[in-house]
Amino acid sequence: MEKDTEVAIIGAGAGGLILALSLHQIGVRCRVYEAVPEIRAVGAGINLMPHAVRELDELGLVPALDKVGIRTKDASYFNQFGQHIYTEPAGEAAGYPWPQFSLHRGDMQKVFLDAVIERLGPDSVVTGHRCIKVDQDSNGVTIRFEGAQGEAIAPVRAGVAIGCDGINSVVRKQLYPQEGEPIYSGLTIWRGVTPFKPFLSGANTIRAGWMTVGKLMVYPIRNNIDAEGNQLMNWVATLERPRPASYDWNRVSSLDAFFEPYRDWHFDWLDVPALLQKTDPVLIFPMVDRDPLSTWTSGRITLLGDAAHPMYPRGSNGAGQAILDARYLAGCFKRKGVTLDALNEYDEVRVQATSKVVLMNRANPPDTVLREVYERSGGKRFDHINDIISDKELREIGDRYRAVAGFDIEALRKRPSFV
Ligand SMILES: Cc1cc2nc3c(=O)[nH]c(=O)nc-3n(C[C@H](O)[C@H](O)[C@H](O)COP(=O)(O)OP(=O)(O)OC[C@H]3O[C@@H](n4cnc5c(N)ncnc54)[C@H](O)[C@@H]3O)c2cc1C
Repeated sequence: MEKDTEVAIIGAGAGGLILALSLHQIGVRCRVYEAVPEIRAVGAGINLMPHAVRELDELGLVPALDKVGIRTKDASYFNQFGQHIYTEPAGEAAGYPWPQFSLHRGDMQKVFLDAVIERLGPDSVVTGHRCIKVDQDSNGVTIRFEGAQGEAIAPVRAGVAIGCDGINSVVRKQLYPQEGEPIYSGLTIWRGVTPFKPFLSGANTIRAGWMTVGKLMVYPIRNNIDAEGNQLMNWVATLERPRPASYDWNRVSSLDAFFEPYRDWHFDWLDVPALLQKTDPVLIFPMVDRDPLSTWTSGRITLLGDAAHPMYPRGSNGAGQAILDARYLAGCFKRKGVTLDALNEYDEVRVQATSKVVLMNRANPPDTVLREVYERSGGKRFDHINDIISDKELREIGDRYRAVAGFDIEALRKRPSFV
């Protein structure tokens, strides 16, 4: 049998779609197989940091992102009383050659999907194909699927299979059948989007409070959505809670389930209760990750994105690391062909890089700023922030995270292109 060189991509999230665009860029044939029958704009807000946007720029996607998202200007931190702790510039304002984007996950996915359909053709993404198993032999892989109603679908052959199938990855489960469920952090996140008046710079991500008293992240994801000049505002509330029932990103919750700690957060720059009360629906998700693996690759099968390295969504790096994986893998295929050698190089480099981000997101993500201030102030108001922590220390928390996650500004400028 002749060896097949087509790449089968399992899952049409950020990771799978950017891999498809990158393979098209280097002339490697591929097809994306997605479980849901129709790709709809689900989820809430997401951030793309400059290291991910650099890769999207190399794919010519920045103009399309500009039409749906916001170029983030700065990131600010406050305590639960709304007292200002620290503001740092973001994206181009921080001196990066690439912007940071805040946008709706559905808009991001549509930008990527539209580009795939336009460049690779309408048959390049096959929906209603839930992967249930991948078999391999010396010539290639056979991918088995079921349809949306559980009906059997004809298997497909390809040279290699890339599991981009998210946090509940079937491909990962096949490689690591004993691994069990994702690990719950003890923190639950509620999130939603609603029209709201711009605040502060109008292009800010703010983080406030701390877990024990309620933590909140808020950022706008669309400009001028109505005649009143409202933005589409995204918020994420985090609280310590027992583990929720499922890991479904689309599960709907209620305001009552988490509102109480935020009841008095009437800041002069943002009325938090009004923001939360306006939002419908409110979505709930447990903050989970998995311990880093020592390898994602088994012969002709490998993992990418959340399937490979699910991480706490505390550093705005979930989509970004999936995009970096996709670009690095495409670079390996470009240099080494669609070979086991290419899969192994990808594995060696990206397992190491992303494991550090998973662990950093557990221990010292950017909101470490909030933890430090909460602990040092005993959860009370402060007279002056620098009595508690210096600007230098605050800046270093962000610098350490950026270095580990791959967007230290100088290192990013100097790094050669992945593809
Ligand atoms: C519905 C949904 C909503 C989300 N909402 C947010 C959000 O609001 N904010 C945020 O920061 N992050 C959100 N995320 C997570 C975020 O998209 C990822 O962390 C990040 O973009 C990395 O993307 P990924 O491609 O690795 O995984 P994902 O974005 O999870 O994409 C995985 C894809 O694989 C498909 N899939 C799953 N199983 C199979 C299978 N067996 N066979 C074929 N296809 C399969 C899924 O339907 C999905 O399209 C959401 C994820 C999902 C799936």
